[in-house]
Amino acid sequence: MKAFEWANAATVDDAVKLLAADSKTDPDEIPRPMGGGQDLLSTMKSYITRPPRVVNLKTINGLAKVQGDGSTGITIDALVTIARLTTHPEIMKSYPGLVEAAHSIATPQIRNMGTVGGNLNQRPRCWYFRAENLQCLRKGGETCYAIEGENKYHAIFGGGPCVVVHPSDLAPMLIALDATVKIAGPKGTRDLPIEQYFVLPKPGNARKENVLEPGEIVTQVHLPATTAKSTYLKFKERASLDFAMASVAAVVDFNADKSVKRASIVLGGVAPTPWRVPNVEVFLAGKKLDDATVKKAGELALDGASPLSQNGYKVPLTQTLVRRALAAVNA
Ligand SMILES: Cc1cc2nc3c(=O)[nH]c(=O)nc-3n(C[C@H](O)[C@H](O)[C@H](O)COP(=O)(O)OP(=O)(O)OC[C@H]3O[C@@H](n4cnc5c(N)ncnc54)[C@H](O)[C@@H]3O)c2cc1C
Repeated sequence: MKAFEWANAATVDDAVKLLAADSKTDPDEIPRPMGGGQDLLSTMKSYITRPPRVVNLKTINGLAKVQGDGSTGITIDALVTIARLTTHPEIMKSYPGLVEAAHSIATPQIRNMGTVGGNLNQRPRCWYFRAENLQCLRKGGETCYAIEGENKYHAIFGGGPCVVVHPSDLAPMLIALDATVKIAGPKGTRDLPIEQYFVLPKPGNARKENVLEPGEIVTQVHLPATTAKSTYLKFKERASLDFAMASVAAVVDFNADKSVKRASIVLGGVAPTPWRVPNVEVFLAGKKLDDATVKKAGELALDGASPLSQNGYKVPLTQTLVRRALAAVNA
């Protein structure tokens, strides 16, 4: 690990000042905020991230609150732990899909330490990215080694040039729930639909993972009021802790006759960002979720998928998850 300075932030403004950096500097060599530290420290240990300063957010008072309920909407601060999402009565009552997504993450120990802000901003789990001695495209190199290499866990959507999948289980669910994020930075604060937060790798810039500029942090996530049903289904290779091979976040608001008023479907584990499927949402509007509709929705969700040499299995797997998620919210 490269030597670094440690700074305890007292306030959000303080954190922003301590994180100040030049946007021209290598993005992995600028000061970094730390929540639970579970991902940041492991990327620092393998020299993927080499911040000159680590800014501890946990010393900020009042940045770990959950406020509101399903009728007003709920605001979740960035330092709220993943574990807290699984036991909060108002979240359990109105956003059960978020509870399922949080509960699917890792282990109780990791959920107790991991924060919402850290989960959304964790780095990709691609083994080429995580290998200390490989300078892959995502780290500023020339090559995405997964495209011609071991790509069983990689993307089937997104079109490259880097084929990582987004690791967060909270992110697809929060997008399906139409959440917004509050961002604080040197120019003040801004609110953004979380759907616009994550950034696909582009030719010439495969390193940018989200819209944050140097010095910016996520301070809150806001869930709008809801009457919709929600669920999160995740397929893992191991029954114990594991990242998603594929997952589906489904939020469906029904009319009185049980036809779909509005559906939001977001896939996880299949693209470098959470992957919304608007064609499915349009298809479902006004329909009842009978077997034929649910089956067709699963097929449509994978339209345009482009599997690599070892991950074709993700297509039928994700189709099945979409069908099961829709059946679950219809039950
Ligand atoms: C064994 C293991 C299994 C796991 N399994 C899963 C899983 O199944 N699903 C899943 O979703 N996750 C999984 N994780 C990831 C885990 O949930 C994350 O490590 C954790 O959520 C990160 O939270 P943290 O608060 O510790 O983040 P940190 O390590 O503190 O930060 C992570 C990153 O986010 C940045 N950051 C932190 N807070 C903010 C903020 N407020 N604003 C902007 N940037 C910020 C940091 O600079 C860093 O780059 C797993 C991790 C491990 C170690």
